[in-house]
Amino acid sequence: GIGMAKSKFEYVRNFETDDTCLKNCYIVVRLDGRNFHKFSEQHNFSKPNDGRALGLMTRSARSVMEDMDDVIISYGQSDEYSFVFKRSTNWFKRRASKLMTHVASHFSSSYVFYWKDYFGDQPLLYPPGFDGRVVLYPSNRNLRDYLSWRQADCHINNLYNTVFWTLVQRGGLTTTQAEDRLKRTLAADKNEIMFSEFDINYNNEPPIYRKGTSLIWKKMEETVTKHVELPDEEEKEVLVTRTRRRVSACHCDIVGDQFWEEHPDILED
Ligand code: ATP
Ligand code: ATP
Ligand code: MG
Ligand code: MG
Ligand code: MG
Ligand code: MG
Repeated sequence: GIGMAKSKFEYVRNFETDDTCLKNCYIVVRLDGRNFHKFSEQHNFSKPNDGRALGLMTRSARSVMEDMDDVIISYGQSDEYSFVFKRSTNWFKRRASKLMTHVASHFSSSYVFYWKDYFGDQPLLYPPGFDGRVVLYPSNRNLRDYLSWRQADCHINNLYNTVFWTLVQRGGLTTTQAEDRLKRTLAADKNEIMFSEFDINYNNEPPIYRKGTSLIWKKMEETVTKHVELPDEEEKEVLVTRTRRRVSACHCDIVGDQFWEEHPDILED
């Protein structure tokens, strides 16, 4: 076909560099919203946690997983999501830029596509963007530590943001005063401020805020009726049971062993 024809310009393809991901490693693509501090203000996100925005992030991540089978687990919090490809994936011949840009563009377009399902009539004021990066993890321990790192980040930020916005919204402090008040405080001090001054037990805050969202594949038994036509026989209706994989969300702890013991098939040997 015409695709086979070579022009004298063809040599420029050799300027492309090889970005094949090392074999046997988990490939993690992490996306993060561009300038979402401003984006969240301009779109009236409730502070510290807007449930619509978190729902839309997770809807978009689910769409990425459904489109890209080889993602075994995703983890999201705030304006970021991490997607973990199985270590044996051969998708796009493991080319980092292909994997990363497909994830980032599918996620971004889903964020816009599903916007109205979460924000209703509130208009999207400009096209949001997400940066992406690729990181390789050679061992199960490294991968688990990566996910633990992101969940610890979620915890630290959410604890700070929860006290900060409580001081502002319920304590009547200005944002500068709240900032000063929290300078050099430890986690225990922050818990104490919320408990003694506002009667808030941080541990009772919704898990989606404290723990973020993990998406994993769950096997579901599904029974459907199928029409079968056999030669020389009448048409029959038969019940067929098949296992389907479905994306399922949880807001559980992924730092400790329990989660991984309950889902031993996520990580490969
Ligand atoms: P891949 O995912 O590998 O890129 P592809 O189907 O996108 O697969 P391309 O080589 O990128 O393959 O070719 C894009 C195809 O999209 C074209 O071959 C053509 O069929 C179609 N296409 C793109 N733009 C137009 C357009 N403006 N009008 C009609 N067809 C178009
Ligand atoms: P950069 O482009 O460098 O990532 P950024 O402004 O996006 O800059 P981040 O460190 O990514 O900075 O922080 C994202 C910010 O978006 C948070 O600090 C918070 O203000 C806001 N944000 C994200 N998700 C939500 C949400 N669900 N509810 C309220 N605010 C949110
Ligand atoms: Mg950042
Ligand atoms: Mg950001
Ligand atoms: Mg961020
Ligand atoms: Mg194409």
